[in-house]
Amino acid sequence: MDNEKLRDELQNYLGDIDDLFFFSLLTRKVKGKSGMQKLVLISVTSELPKRDYCGTYKMRDIGPSIRIHRYTHEDKHQYFERFLSTLVHESCHAYLDIFCDKRHSKHQEWVCDYDGHRKMFWVLFRFIMQKIKAYTKPEAWGNQVKDMESECFSITKRKSQPGEWGTPECTLMGGFLSREYSK
Ligand SMILES: [Zn+2]
Repeated sequence: MDNEKLRDELQNYLGDIDDLFFFSLLTRKVKGKSGMQKLVLISVTSELPKRDYCGTYKMRDIGPSIRIHRYTHEDKHQYFERFLSTLVHESCHAYLDIFCDKRHSKHQEWVCDYDGHRKMFWVLFRFIMQKIKAYTKPEAWGNQVKDMESECFSITKRKSQPGEWGTPECTLMGGFLSREYSK
């Protein structure tokens, strides 16, 4: 399968993730620079990532874009579940980037810090990962959830703040939101 075919396949999965969790906002058609295009664009590259990651999200000139690396940083084939969890991860970045109220006084602290991996990110990402785990066979998806938790731990720990905002208890949708918003 070449990169374009893989991109088309992943585009379909991104559409499903979008329909299930993002109100079909991310992949709807909008007017772009070269006519109608999907709001969030996706591309696949054979370039090896510099570290152990599989995708990136960035606001580019052509629009909000997800870039997927088809090989690992050790030049091995990436596997399906990793692609899927990466699409979820990058969708969360895209959604927050496009739809958050950037004028909100807590926007930096809740969304932007730690390269966009602040608490709102983990609320969304963890919620969706847990939902997919509930809908699928846990043995297939369990490792992705474990990877998410260790990624969360290493990111929140990196700047010597293992932070209560990084723990599952704190970012479960109801618990976290109700506490912060009631202040
Ligand atoms: Zn990220």
